[in-house]
Amino acid sequence: MSYQGPHSDPLGSWQPPRRSPLRRPLTLTLAALVPGALLGWLAYEALGGTGSGGDGGTDRAVGAATSSARPSENGGDGKDAEPGTLSASPSAASAPLRGKVVVIDPGHNPTNYEHTADINRKVDIGTNWKECDTTGTSTNAGYSEARFTLDVAHRLRTLLEAQGATVKLTQDGDRAFGPCVDERAEIGNAAHADAAISIHADGSGEGNRGFHVIMPGEVHEGSADTRAIVAPSKELGAAVEGDFAQATGSSPSNYIGDGTGLVTRKDLGGLNLSTVPKVFIECGNMRDTKDAALLTSSAWRQSAARGISEGIVSFLRGK
Ligand SMILES: [Zn+2]
Repeated sequence: MSYQGPHSDPLGSWQPPRRSPLRRPLTLTLAALVPGALLGWLAYEALGGTGSGGDGGTDRAVGAATSSARPSENGGDGKDAEPGTLSASPSAASAPLRGKVVVIDPGHNPTNYEHTADINRKVDIGTNWKECDTTGTSTNAGYSEARFTLDVAHRLRTLLEAQGATVKLTQDGDRAFGPCVDERAEIGNAAHADAAISIHADGSGEGNRGFHVIMPGEVHEGSADTRAIVAPSKELGAAVEGDFAQATGSSPSNYIGDGTGLVTRKDLGGLNLSTVPKVFIECGNMRDTKDAALLTSSAWRQSAARGISEGIVSFLRGK
């Protein structure tokens, strides 16, 4: 239940460096060391190409920041260094998500189990009425899903804020129960989030392993209307699925999603009521011994947060 931030975690330092804050300064460092056309080409490649649309393509999200890139003054590299100088200033490079809002929804609540009547209250999810919230699952040894989701949420927040994003959590272990699923969606809507993600871990049978990302199906019923968010949520889901697999080394679920790691559902209030691009991720199965060993490792949780972060970043920068 206590927050173990990446800085207080000795295992947290093993993960590879974050992408953007280091990549561009590295380019500049190389520029000072490697002369000639090769460098120019390398810098060009590292930046994903500049061409005539220097702040288009992958750099679109940087927008105005890119236009403030410094002129060719980076260390006397001569004419061949020119492409490298098109990299954004260090501040822009370190904040590619400036202006973007991400809402993180840590699934469940660590003390939901003490408030059974409150969380069993039914709320309208458009297609149906469902419980306000549930207790979530736990490992066989008693490590709760709610503790897991909050820890990953904190790590994810740190990573996204380092990229310049504005991050809001739907709950931070600071309330007695909930919020209810409709309120969880509403928090993302009210924040006009550019992306929202609900973090969970599953409670399935032993031998069922792996992660899956849940995307909203098309729902237009009652207060639910997902028609505008189905497509962007699918993009977000695919990005998170790929980067999560890469960062953690985990395989897509072997018991749902036909090996794709992707599932579409129309029965989740948190998705049905969202008006912003949103997905859920079930990071693993807490009831499987091998998955539980991963989910209870702080180093693995850091990798999980990094994978989710990278997926969100690539989704937002591709918008
Ligand atoms: Zn859950």
